[in-house]
Amino acid sequence: MRSKDLNPQNFTEFADEVVLKGREEEPRKEDTQKVNFYGLELDDLKDLLKKLGKESYRAQQLFKWVYQSRVTDFEEMSNISKKFRAELPDLISFELPKVVEHLVSKDGTQKFLFDVGFSKTVEAVLIPSDDRLTLCLSSEVGCNMACKFCFTGKQKLKRRLTADEIVGQFMQVHDRLKEGQRISNIVFMGMGEPLDNPEAVFKTIKVLHSTWGMNFSRRKVTVSTSGLVPQIPLITESGARLAVSLNAPNDEIRNFIMPINKKYNIKKLMDACREHTSKARDRVTFEYVLLKGVNDSIEHARQLRKIIRGVPCKLNLIPFNEHPGADFHRSDSKDVFRFQKEILNTGTHVTIRRTMGRDIFAACGQLTSHYNEHPKKQEVQTGILG
Ligand code: SF4
Repeated sequence: MRSKDLNPQNFTEFADEVVLKGREEEPRKEDTQKVNFYGLELDDLKDLLKKLGKESYRAQQLFKWVYQSRVTDFEEMSNISKKFRAELPDLISFELPKVVEHLVSKDGTQKFLFDVGFSKTVEAVLIPSDDRLTLCLSSEVGCNMACKFCFTGKQKLKRRLTADEIVGQFMQVHDRLKEGQRISNIVFMGMGEPLDNPEAVFKTIKVLHSTWGMNFSRRKVTVSTSGLVPQIPLITESGARLAVSLNAPNDEIRNFIMPINKKYNIKKLMDACREHTSKARDRVTFEYVLLKGVNDSIEHARQLRKIIRGVPCKLNLIPFNEHPGADFHRSDSKDVFRFQKEILNTGTHVTIRRTMGRDIFAACGQLTSHYNEHPKKQEVQTGILG
């Protein structure tokens, strides 16, 4: 892997050129003089304090107060000198994206809409299950990748979120948990391609992993990519788990539903996955959205078996969730089970993702920054397992 390929700028150029054709990002919120605490990883804070002649352990103290005790009033930070406490409000602010809507599904899934300025919203989804409480975060307003089955992909990229806006989604949800609840897993599977916004995403991951911050174990954070092959080593380095939105058993179908495949085909993607699994000593999760009549036949399952052979992995089958204007349909239940059985025969671990939050448009592939395009609620359609 050449270091040049790891430069986020290279991918940005590709995305603009191949997928987006010159579309500009829209402006961010106005900067203020103060630094937003939630946009700083621990080393950033240490650097900031060093410039003021403060010791680096002060950064750890601040992180602990803010992330572990949820104290943001400097006056309450009792182990910090009075003089220093008085200086901090001129330097640091605590700004979180505003929650403009909070919807709760019949199945307990919660969707939070955040205002990120200029009438744009992003969505985060909190998904309960028996032993987990998983938070799905967004990394961009819209998305450059233009995957044909995805509602976000229809909206094109409006803006890459800043780290404080991604950390902010986490904090806002965290602050609304019921007593005794704890977010157990974080997945970057919301709006946007996380590897198209690596600086902010990996800064957020550092805050989540930091023992002075949210102290998430490395294996509890997963980054999902549509296949930005040169950036995959960044996930390996970060210690997060890798998920790949695969969705096709051959290049012909993948080129059709995921334009990124024209740049980084399945062979390149599988090579990158193998490299990750060997360096990270972890398996990769392949996500496969089943689209009726497109990628859900027995022959497709056989082709899929071949392409993932030799990659330590788990396969997650996702029955398609329809959204306004969708060009595809959900596979029949019998076809989903038949597809699963065909792969299970090889000994691969295959699960069928239970559809959650469909009644509030919070299910996989249904998120949008054009909030008004969603009906507030829809009747629950019976999912394959739900
Ligand atoms: S599936 Fe992910 S990468 Fe593809 S368009 Fe949707 S948000 Fe972007």
